[in-house]
Amino acid sequence: MITMNKRVSLDDLSEQRDAQLALWPLAKENYSALGRVETKVFRLGDFPMMAMHNPARIKSTGAAVDKKSIEERPCFLCRDNRPEQQLQDTILPGWDFLVNPYPILPMHFTIVSTRHVPQSGLPLEAASMAEMMPGMTVFFNGARAGASAPDHLHLQAVMTSELPLLRIAEDNHPSGRPGIMSSDDFGLDLPFGFFSAVITPDDCGMGTLAAVAKAEGVDAVSEEPDPGLVNTFLWIDKEGLLRAVVVPRSAHRPSCYFKDEPDKMVISPGALDMAGIMVVPRREDFERLDIDGVKEIYSETGCRLK
Ligand SMILES: [Zn+2]
Repeated sequence: MITMNKRVSLDDLSEQRDAQLALWPLAKENYSALGRVETKVFRLGDFPMMAMHNPARIKSTGAAVDKKSIEERPCFLCRDNRPEQQLQDTILPGWDFLVNPYPILPMHFTIVSTRHVPQSGLPLEAASMAEMMPGMTVFFNGARAGASAPDHLHLQAVMTSELPLLRIAEDNHPSGRPGIMSSDDFGLDLPFGFFSAVITPDDCGMGTLAAVAKAEGVDAVSEEPDPGLVNTFLWIDKEGLLRAVVVPRSAHRPSCYFKDEPDKMVISPGALDMAGIMVVPRREDFERLDIDGVKEIYSETGCRLK
């Protein structure tokens, strides 16, 4: 059991996950299957990433996220609709901490608001959650950037060490330079742009955090700014400082998602894909995905900052 408002170690979290898996065969099978997941490693300039063939993710990758489909289905994040085997813990008042039954990484949690309110923007509690869980990154999928339940506010958490994009931010944004830097300032060859923030525990840091929470992407079609087109990550770095990365998006899904078979590829990037773990549920897509395909997906769903 996790105690509210206290630091939680990776060991505590892994114990909590195992307690859940002991009670829920479906989740247990999906975590065991992660050990058998095939991967392909690509290096896009200065961005090392991998594609992962994970068949259990088809539900989320292929999820209908249009307004009508969302209104017509029972919300799977509301307490009353969750499977009875799913345990819940509280880390902060107003938030349920759950083991994600369809994991992408071996430690994968979903942190769900106790109220059915829309995924309208990054909740500032995400920063407190990151501070409570050193070693873990708390991340947010904007309503149009990978959230499979855009009608119910939620965050997720995975281990920071798994995410190549965050390593790039830590290696290139000096901790002695608080505030926001653009990835363009790093002088690296990257497939899309992002912002990195070092958030100090003072008024200046509060301003930085507010700016992070207000970040927007720009819709590739309408060219309008949209707060739903962002992926945001918050974590505590090795020096104990709070950091954030914001990836502004231009689209949720790349053009290959909408092609007819056999050209269709069911790839639907959320935060983890942008951080360097691209989820590919279908075997045929995984087999033919190559470096040019990955570059195209990033260029169609990420943003250039200039
Ligand atoms: Zn709900």
